[in-house]
Amino acid sequence: MDPIQIQKAADVLRKSRNTIAFTGAGISVESGVPPFRGENGIWEKYDPKTLELGFFMNNPTASWKVIRELFYNYFGTAKSNNAHFVLAEMEKRGLLKCVITQNIDNLHQQAGSVVVHEFHGNSQNLVCLSCHRYFKPDDIDFDKLPPYCGDCGGLIKPDFIFFGEGIPMEAYQNSVEAAGRAEAVILVGSTGEVMPAAQMPYLAKQNGATIIEVNTEMSKFTNTITDHFIQGKAGEVLTELFFSLTGEELKTK
Ligand code: NAD
Repeated sequence: MDPIQIQKAADVLRKSRNTIAFTGAGISVESGVPPFRGENGIWEKYDPKTLELGFFMNNPTASWKVIRELFYNYFGTAKSNNAHFVLAEMEKRGLLKCVITQNIDNLHQQAGSVVVHEFHGNSQNLVCLSCHRYFKPDDIDFDKLPPYCGDCGGLIKPDFIFFGEGIPMEAYQNSVEAAGRAEAVILVGSTGEVMPAAQMPYLAKQNGATIIEVNTEMSKFTNTITDHFIQGKAGEVLTELFFSLTGEELKTK
């Protein structure tokens, strides 16, 4: 990690009156949640078609077996890391307006972030596709797949976006508004390959925002809109950035 880039990024954040964060799967890697792409990515082990809406509707048991393993047995026990804690602490101090996240792991909220626009939904919510009743993972008997609604018998689906589904309207509108108003964006751990989510940092840039990118590797954003690229692990970089910005060590519970 380059200390000069950290210093420059901290200067940008100090001057910004409206900073937002845009996060991807990379922010949760230090929590033990693998990303989709790249080394040890989820798609090295699982077939992406299990998360296609059409496949799920026709083969709910096969889809649900993968969903259970990935999102409830495995993701379900993950804990927020320092990168999530830094963003939550910045929001608490009035240094960050919101987080726009592509993640569905609930780790921003677990760390204490309040204004989180979940572009792709949240695995901690499940919904009956027939009567639209909502459930929490504790309400579901994962030994009997696929799960059906106790009220109407409809098929239950996690309330995150499968391939082939639209973005939740409220999260989309809130994200567009937040990106349009931002003076600085902290962009963490995203390849920039998933649309339309990846448009949000571009939108902010078009409206004059300065883009600070944190990633272990270069992404599609790096040579297009990034102003300050800080190469390194999200938890380590954001902890340094927080120190540079506030002069204080990050305290976690
Ligand atoms: P991605 O899986 O396509 O790429 C992950 C990015 O994170 C890469 O650019 C990689 O270089 C970077 N990275 C890896 N380790 C890092 C670290 N320690 N610190 C900083 N950066 C690191 O991620 P994406 O662009 O978010 O798109 C994937 C899609 O998959 C999203 O739409 C998201 O909904 C979904 N997804 C979510 C989760 C989750 O909820 N945690 C996990 C996997 C996938």
